[in-house]
Amino acid sequence: MNKFEALGLDARLVRATSEMGYEQPTAIQEQAIPVLISGTKDFIGLAQTGTGKTAAYALPLLQLIQPSPLHPQALVVCPTRELCLQIVKEIDAFKKYLPGLSAVAVYGGSSIVLQIKDIKRGVQLVVATPGRLIDLIERKAIALDKIQYVVLDEADEMLNMGFQEDIEFILKNTPARESTWLFSATMPAEIRKVSKKYMNQPKEVTIGKVNTANASIDHQYYVTSAHHRYETLKRIIDFNPGIYGIVFTRTKADAQEICDRLTREGYDIDALHGDLSQPQREKVMGQFRDKSLQLLIATDVAARGIDVAGISHVINYELPDDAEVYTHRSGRTGRAGNQGICISIVHAREMYKFRQIEKLSNTRFHKLDIPTGKDVCRKQFFHFMDKLLLADISHGDYETYVPMLTEKFADISKEEVLKRVAAMEFDRFLKYYENAGDLNVREKEKSSKSSGKAGSQDFQSGGRGDSRKGFAKGGGTGYRRLFVNLGTKDGFYKASFLQFILDLSDLKKEVLGKIDMKDMNSWVEVEKGAAQQMIRAIDGKKYRGRSIRMNDADNRPPFSGKHQSSK
Ligand code: AMP
Repeated sequence: MNKFEALGLDARLVRATSEMGYEQPTAIQEQAIPVLISGTKDFIGLAQTGTGKTAAYALPLLQLIQPSPLHPQALVVCPTRELCLQIVKEIDAFKKYLPGLSAVAVYGGSSIVLQIKDIKRGVQLVVATPGRLIDLIERKAIALDKIQYVVLDEADEMLNMGFQEDIEFILKNTPARESTWLFSATMPAEIRKVSKKYMNQPKEVTIGKVNTANASIDHQYYVTSAHHRYETLKRIIDFNPGIYGIVFTRTKADAQEICDRLTREGYDIDALHGDLSQPQREKVMGQFRDKSLQLLIATDVAARGIDVAGISHVINYELPDDAEVYTHRSGRTGRAGNQGICISIVHAREMYKFRQIEKLSNTRFHKLDIPTGKDVCRKQFFHFMDKLLLADISHGDYETYVPMLTEKFADISKEEVLKRVAAMEFDRFLKYYENAGDLNVREKEKSSKSSGKAGSQDFQSGGRGDSRKGFAKGGGTGYRRLFVNLGTKDGFYKASFLQFILDLSDLKKEVLGKIDMKDMNSWVEVEKGAAQQMIRAIDGKKYRGRSIRMNDADNRPPFSGKHQSSK
């Protein structure tokens, strides 16, 4: 007996699999197929991609659904357009001898009108990416009321891409759902949560080793001071000449600002944030996909669902607030068996938050030194030389120029030609990095040994070229601590307060250090060189009819602590 037949599969499906060259079932197929066709309702299959998991659920689905009614009876939800197309292709091959069954792929980035037409023609099986499926549900273009089977394929990838809410929405909107089958390569806590909420005592099968974190991502971090963040980003980009990545920022304004600065400095970059229209967004994504853009700067919301293959680096320009968002961000790289790097630029004062993310995301981070100017130049130099050696000269008309070139370069040695080539490419870099300072903020020796308490480390910033040499715990040597008689009772929260004082003083947020807000008063650290400008701009101004007082916190006149009315 054929091994697939022995699993209980219909002869027509067995015939199709043999024609596809499947001689024997893979481990996940062996364990899933009999269980699923025998009517097991809820199922979790933990298996990596490439283990044959598509067949493990698609063959049972094809055996269980019926040609009639001509209504969607099974729904497969998967993270990407590529996977969606691949699944339908495989299903089409499996159902070769099952007349009357049809499957449709619905995914973003392609005409929704054509997909709606396909659905209207009548299908029993729908394979969809979450975003597009929700679009169809909202347009009432797809009926999910007769869906009995829902398969979540690559569930961890979907959660990484920020689709958790969408998946829950889909599960809630399939009222006739009897069976939920979940396939995933890893089992993070979020997936456990989803399975607990929407599945009933699922049968669980594990193939191979299952990790909670994605082992193909190397998590690295650099510690610098707040006002060196941008320089650090530039240095990381320059140190990775072949980089193809996404830089995450917390706000739209930051995304736009960094993008503008980097563009001015000649980087292939664009920003993706919520202010873009759909056509603008598609244009940016198109350019990023075809690699005309090396880097994309994105906010978390705008990057939701981004599905681009081969991303080498994810850079957290600013740390996200929680571990879940960190996982979503880093999940953009290290996919489909590739290695990826996720870099976080951490400000010395963010170490506490950073350690929490490390703990909650169950990830090991590696601290690296921010490369020196010399390191960057060396790296760029060898990258260029490698490119030179690999340049394809097979189909140019270069041979015809050789005699002329030989004559032209007759008096110059090979070494000199190489030097000139290098100079043309590197002068800009060498000049830029000639006097580049050390951007690292280093943990003091003693605290790295003794401090087990997160967030309590002392840091000192690196040497040469660094005008503001770090700040010790509890007040910076490069900062002045200013007192302001405004607080949370005035309706401010940190971000709005920051915006308020920066707008009034026309200063950039890089000049600010730590901010302490209480009900009635706040304390703000401002770079020494900028403190006077801030006091001048703010002290004596009115806020909601009341005089604002701002002065040196450590040298201020006695204060009653109560609001003073100007009236
Ligand atoms: P998947 O993990 O479903 O993406 O499958 C990985 C690849 O293995 C696909 O190209 C399948 O066509 C192929 N494949 C799946 N099951 C078998 C099998 N039993 N024998 C041979 N190839 C298979």
